[in-house]
Amino acid sequence: MPIALTPRPVPEIKHLGDVKTRSANKRKIICFSDFDGTIFMQDTGHVLFDNHGCGSKRREILDEQIKTGDRSFRDVSEEMWGSLNVPFEDGFEVMEKTLEIDPDFQSFHQYCIANNIPFNVISAGLKPILRRVLDTFLGEEASSHIDIVANDANISADGSEWKPIWRHDTELGHDKALSVQEARKEAELACDDGSIPLIVFIGDGVSDLPAAREADVLFARRGLRLEEYCTEHKIPYIPFDTFADIQREIEKIKEEDDKKTAGKGLPARFNPRANLWRRVSSKNAVPRYVVMSPTKEEKMFLWPEAFTELKTPSVETIEEAFPVGTVQG
Ligand SMILES: [Mg+2]
Repeated sequence: MPIALTPRPVPEIKHLGDVKTRSANKRKIICFSDFDGTIFMQDTGHVLFDNHGCGSKRREILDEQIKTGDRSFRDVSEEMWGSLNVPFEDGFEVMEKTLEIDPDFQSFHQYCIANNIPFNVISAGLKPILRRVLDTFLGEEASSHIDIVANDANISADGSEWKPIWRHDTELGHDKALSVQEARKEAELACDDGSIPLIVFIGDGVSDLPAAREADVLFARRGLRLEEYCTEHKIPYIPFDTFADIQREIEKIKEEDDKKTAGKGLPARFNPRANLWRRVSSKNAVPRYVVMSPTKEEKMFLWPEAFTELKTPSVETIEEAFPVGTVQG
């Protein structure tokens, strides 16, 4: 299903106090964010598996099987979700009690709405769960402003069957579509009004690395794996403790961009690799990155839990996983 990245209507300027909001829209900013560990401090899947499914011990064994390559991500993920035997509503009770939202996420999200910044969730979780979590913690109206790109799910009424509906068929093998995308003209990278949006990515884990490399501005939760990777591999990033830090930084970046470019041409902080996401925003389409059959780096993106505990790989491994100038736009 296409995600709607079209900006919400800009509020009419009624008095001078609103001018800031309008000037903020000179350069369109688009946020893409991870969900588990980024917006919420816990992992929705883990909460469910540990309380209503295979349990934490079995989950650890399964995670290990993915890491060692004994079993495929898809296979193991299906076992984890398949181990659940709880109706959706009951399963949600434990999530409501256990999950903690970033203390400043809600005000950040209000800021996004007020400033016409589309906020999109990119997750390996199951969409119905993520939507329900957002509805509960933010309220349905606020939640409706967030588009979620994640796997869908079939959950039987009695809760005996939880089955992910994968966004793609792994049998398709490696997809070359990204190389084709690279050949596309820059004209495609612009918003409908011809301006070039600034792409922000927010994450916490190793799984976010492939997406993180595609951003103009990257935020990494402080003290976690994504930050460690960025430091180690000299990927520019801004650390954050809560979404209030992100809001503050975005304000600064907007000012900087305004001064340097007045919203014209390339953003002051421009990463050509972010063109992947710009295409998404310009074409109102689901990121092909997510839809395509998974290559190695996409697997990390789509099944982050399988990778979050991985030891820091060598530079060679990283280079192999994220070869420069190939799939990442
Ligand atoms: Mg995460």
